[in-house]
Amino acid sequence: QNIMKTYLVTGGAGFIGSNYIHYMFKKYGSDIKIINVDALTYAGNPENLKEIENRDNYEFVKADICDKEAISKIFETNDIDRVVHFAAESHVDRSIRNPEVFVQTNVLGTAVMLNCAKSAWELGDGSFKPDKKFLHVSTDEVYGSLEEEGEYFYETTPYDPHSPYSASKASSDMLVKAYMDTYHFPANITNCSNNYGPYQFPEKLIPLIINNALQGKKLPVYGDGKNVRDWLYVEDHAKAIDMVQEKGRLFETYNVGGHNEKQNIEIINIIIETLQDMLPENDPRKELISKDLITYVEDRKGHDRRYAIAPDKIKAEIGWEPETMFKEGIRLTIQWFFENEDWMKNVTSGEYQKYYKDMYSGK
Ligand code: NAD
Repeated sequence: QNIMKTYLVTGGAGFIGSNYIHYMFKKYGSDIKIINVDALTYAGNPENLKEIENRDNYEFVKADICDKEAISKIFETNDIDRVVHFAAESHVDRSIRNPEVFVQTNVLGTAVMLNCAKSAWELGDGSFKPDKKFLHVSTDEVYGSLEEEGEYFYETTPYDPHSPYSASKASSDMLVKAYMDTYHFPANITNCSNNYGPYQFPEKLIPLIINNALQGKKLPVYGDGKNVRDWLYVEDHAKAIDMVQEKGRLFETYNVGGHNEKQNIEIINIIIETLQDMLPENDPRKELISKDLITYVEDRKGHDRRYAIAPDKIKAEIGWEPETMFKEGIRLTIQWFFENEDWMKNVTSGEYQKYYKDMYSGK
């Protein structure tokens, strides 16, 4: 076996990280080795990786990214070529209830990752070993909220985060920028819009609505339902990350987005219609699903109105474009949930029940 590059992926048992790992093995097969470090919080699920967990060129390390010793040991015992840093607390609603863990993982954890990579890659004269790269995966939420139609987030848009989640991600981006500016540390940042697809935990809008609708449960929508998000199929994001790391200019930030802006209420309506269309005639769930299930609930505190990415730079410089149109992506996602009912059953048992009750009973 001839491994060309060794990747250290953080948070690879989560939604985007696991999709990225699947994508990378599909693309590079046994040319790469992936070491996945994940603390397995509520959001990390080893089941997301069961198809690849026995590969010779895959290794899982259960560790917290804030644990300096554990992380530096990985760098000491492996010649890491690429770091792809996904691990984070990722849910805005949870950050409103419990901000501290967001600062811990997203800010301090990123500091540990940067510092360990820097120590491992630095040469005596302060330069870095050749062809080592760190990619920090971030969000468009760092740019704040857009009010006017036709306005977009560019890489040059000033940061203006509002939620504890986006503030913690903005801080982590700033740290990466500081490492690039101060040490010439070889890194890139990607700021991506909302993702959807297989393996997404059902606290996020799309899997939550699919799961509830299939059970004839209420479909909660915040405020007037008119908040706008720009949705990207997760595999397109995985591809963008790989392309930025291999073809992008070092030290640059790239915005990644789908030019696919939709109001939350539109998303819910599309899911209902697509489920109706995809379920076979005699499926008893067909009768349960209807727009009457839509329930408006008290708005999220500080809810940003609209996010929209201008992906011009990544398209012009790297040639990346979203490939999966929303109609197709939502069908692929629903099909995946149909085929993986056990996955959904497992993640929605236990702790999830308590979270769901707290979230939607006004507590
Ligand atoms: P997720 O919540 O599904 O997964 C996060 C993963 O990180 C989990 O496997 C969890 O166990 C792990 N993790 C959390 N804290 C950790 C710690 N202290 N140490 C080690 N591992 C830890 O998140 P996601 O939706 O896959 O997002 C991944 C990254 O992409 C995040 O950095 C997020 O900010 C960013 N992002 C997400 C979206 C989106 O729409 N989901 C959009 C843009 C950017």
